[in-house]
This record gives sequence, C-alpha cells and structure tokens, in this order.
Amino acid sequence: MDNRDYELIIVGGGITGAAVLYAVSAYTNVSKVLLIEKYEDIATLNSNSKSNSQTLHFGDVETNYSLKKAEEARGEARRVLRYMSLLDKNERERTIRACQKMVLGVGDEESEALERTYHSGIRRLFPGLQILYRDGLERVEPNTVKGRDKDESVTALLSDSGYMVDFERLARSFVSKALDNKRRGKEVALMFNTRVVKLEEKHGVYRLTTTKGEFRAKFVVFATGSYSLLFAKMLDFEKNLSIISVGGDYFISKKMLRGKVYRVQKGGIPFAAVHADPDIRNEKITRYGPTATIPLKLEKRGSTALDYIRSFNYDIKTLETITKVLGNEDILRILETNFVYGLPVVGKRWFFQNEVRKIIPSIKYEHLYYQRGMGGIRPQIVDENTKSFFVGASKLYDHNAIFNITPSPGASSALESGIEDMKYIARALDLRINASKFDRELGLD
Ligand SMILES: Cc1cc2nc3c(=O)[nH]c(=O)nc-3n(C[C@H](O)[C@H](O)[C@H](O)COP(=O)(O)OP(=O)(O)OC[C@H]3O[C@@H](n4cnc5c(N)ncnc54)[C@H](O)[C@@H]3O)c2cc1C
Repeated sequence: MDNRDYELIIVGGGITGAAVLYAVSAYTNVSKVLLIEKYEDIATLNSNSKSNSQTLHFGDVETNYSLKKAEEARGEARRVLRYMSLLDKNERERTIRACQKMVLGVGDEESEALERTYHSGIRRLFPGLQILYRDGLERVEPNTVKGRDKDESVTALLSDSGYMVDFERLARSFVSKALDNKRRGKEVALMFNTRVVKLEEKHGVYRLTTTKGEFRAKFVVFATGSYSLLFAKMLDFEKNLSIISVGGDYFISKKMLRGKVYRVQKGGIPFAAVHADPDIRNEKITRYGPTATIPLKLEKRGSTALDYIRSFNYDIKTLETITKVLGNEDILRILETNFVYGLPVVGKRWFFQNEVRKIIPSIKYEHLYYQRGMGGIRPQIVDENTKSFFVGASKLYDHNAIFNITPSPGASSALESGIEDMKYIARALDLRINASKFDRELGLD
C-alpha cells in the first residue's frame, strides 16, 4: 500500500466519526486507517459542547419515543456509561456528570399524557421512574411551581438516569484512545483542514478527491452529518431520502433549576420540544432551547444554500413529501412559532412567554438572554416513500461504504453506531474482532 492507500478511511471528525475510529482501532486488527476532517479540530460542529443540549438520552423521559425506541436508547446510553468507566477519574468528571432529569407536563392535557405514559409499559424498562405532582415538584425542582397559578395542573416524570455529557470531550477521548493503538503497530492517522469533495468507486476501490489530493480505501465511512446523504448520492443510490435542516438556538439565564427539565413531546415529531438544561462547562447558567428553525443550509459553518438544494432530488416526489411533512398541523405550528422566536425583540418576548415561563413561571424577562454562537443544525431525514420524518439516525450501505446521517440525539447513540459500523467493516474486510477485550471493556449484561 502506498501512503495514499488505506484499508479504511473515515470522513468527518465529529463524535460519529470519532466513535468508528475508536471502535475499529481498539477492537479489530485493522492495519491502516485514516480520519479526514475538513476543519481544524475534532468536534467543531454539532458535537461541540456549545452546539447541543448535552443530554445522554436514555429513552425514559422522551415522550415522543415508542417503547421499542426507548429500549434502544437505553442500550445506547448504557454503552456510553460503560465507556466512561474506562476513563481516569479526572477525565470522566469533565466529560460526564449525573444530574436530575424530568419531563414536565403543564395543564390537564399534558398531565394526563404523562399519567398515561407512566402507567404504560415504560416502568418495565425504567423501574426507577417516579411520577411527581405539585408537592413533589416543590421539593425536587421548586422553581417549576413557584408563582404558578394554583389551578394549573402540573405533573412530572422524574428519571433516575439523568446525565449531562460534554460530547466534544467524549469525541476527543475516542480519538485519543484510537491513537493509543499506534503503539500496537497500527497506522492510525488524522488529517485536518482537508475537505472531501468527490467520491467514486471503481473495481472495489473507493477514490476520495480531497482538497489535498486523492486518497483510496477498501472501505469508507462517511460521518459528515447532512453531507453524508450528498456523498451517498454521488454513488447514485438512495434517491428516496431528503434532508430538512432544523436549526436550534438557545437562550440562557442565571442558574434557575437543579437539573434538566424536558417538556412533553407529541409522537411523530422527531425533534425535542424546548427544554431547560444545566451546562456542563458553566455551572452558573441554565440554558433554554433548542428552537426549531428551517435554515437553508446544511451546517452552521461554511455550508451553502447550493449544497442544501443538492441534497434534495429535484423531483415532484420530493416536493410532495416536503409539502406533506410540513403540512402536518403540529409540525407547522412548531415551525411557525419558532420562526417568530428568531425575530429581533419580539422573538425573545414570545420565547419567554411561550416556553420559558411554562417551565419557570416566576422568571423575569430581563434575566433571559439570547446566546449567540450556541446551537447547531439537525439533519432531519425525510423518507420519500413513507412521506414522513425518520426518528433517529440513519445508515445507508453500499458494498464497502457506510453513510451515517445523525439527527438529534445522535451524540448519545454515536458509540453504539460506531460499534455497529465496526462489526460491518470487520465482516467486509475480513478483520478479526477482539471479542474478549470488547466484552471486558464495553460489554453490557
Ligand atoms: C441544537 C441541537 C441539540 C442537540 N442535543 C442533543 C442532545 O442533547 N443529546 C444528543 O445525544 N444529541 C443531541 N444533538 C444531536 C447531536 O449533536 C448530533 O447528532 C451529533 O453531534 C452528530 O455528530 P456527527 O459526528 O455525526 O456530526 P458533526 O458533529 O456535525 O460532525 C460532522 C463532521 O463532518 C465534517 N465534514 C462534513 N463534510 C465534510 C467533508 N466534505 N470533508 C471532511 N469532513 C467533513 C464536519 O466538519 C464535522 O466535523 C443535538 C443537536 C443539535 C443541533
């Protein structure tokens, strides 16, 4: 192999690409692997600590999940906890912290919905889940009831599995553990400030044209967020998917809550309703968000409207799908309201009234600030066959290629996704998986 030929090339240095790099380097006998990232460092986009809500999603308070989806989320989150036990105490404490987490129902409709959820099968999966009413909330999260109208009903489901995670640090930790394997005679290389612009496949070899010349690999993994769909389309397959970008910004105040307070979310809506969170890097604030806007670009940094248009298929089926998805009354209402949140002056007033005061009735308007630079863009996948949103991440497979598209909560599922990719790659390249090391380090009971 010359030095532009690799067994495996991973494109994208967010948490998804970092997790694949880690899993393959640590648990297989891969000999030559390269990660290519277009920016200057690991995790500068959605996986950055400022870009997301830092929640390890367990599936217990996500009211828009089915039981099956909740069970999957629980497995993915437990895998992250398992990985954390491999870190030294200092690194672990900077990367993950246990915190209180609940979903809050305000008014009769939401309260009844939470009652129903609590008495459904959810407690078989999460026996530690508790239901709280006004007096319980006064004890556990007092600012959610202080100043609230006595006639307004409030109910909450309190999780016993609340964690905030610095996904940026987690991604860096994956990469640094992958690099440790260089000592074991593997070539594990990183290449920053290098953008992949074209992908072709000929006679089983993938050719990647980049801003630093051509690289070749037997297997490629794209972990490039929304761009993964564009690269899949370069191989001329999977024409039945499109992406709607859902942007999310945050407001902040001084610390008002003890932990995470989510709001009730309707089924079929893939992105979480506005919620309140602590910040793992700044104990003095509470964050509120993310909003849900529709920016005409794929990423916060650098991407263009042209790329956005190219991620669609330009046909009548696409238009029909988008019209149907955006014509859903609940989704339309969310998008209209969130459009207003983005307007100068009135936006903050509406957000305060509509969202923040529902969680903390006594908060003062002047204590809320729009936080410039916080937030990201979720690639929401739309299936043109079913004319609906996908809930969760999606993988597209060519023979020796995987394309990962990762909407929220893709950071929580990144490690599990990396493990799945590792197993697929090992089969495709006839690599050996060190099963005893894997079970010892990451195995779940
Ligand atoms: C507002 C918001 C809140 C969220 N909250 C949560 C949460 O609480 N919990 C949770 O689990 N998830 C959450 N998510 C989702 C989570 O942040 C993402 O799913 C996750 O970070 C995706 O990781 P990634 O590595 O796939 O993508 P990214 O982190 O976006 O990384 C993709 C990488 O690919 C690189 N790249 C792209 N194109 C190229 C190219 N052509 N050549 C080379 N490199 C390229 C980019 O530069 C980037 O580094 C949230 C997301 C948003 C936007």
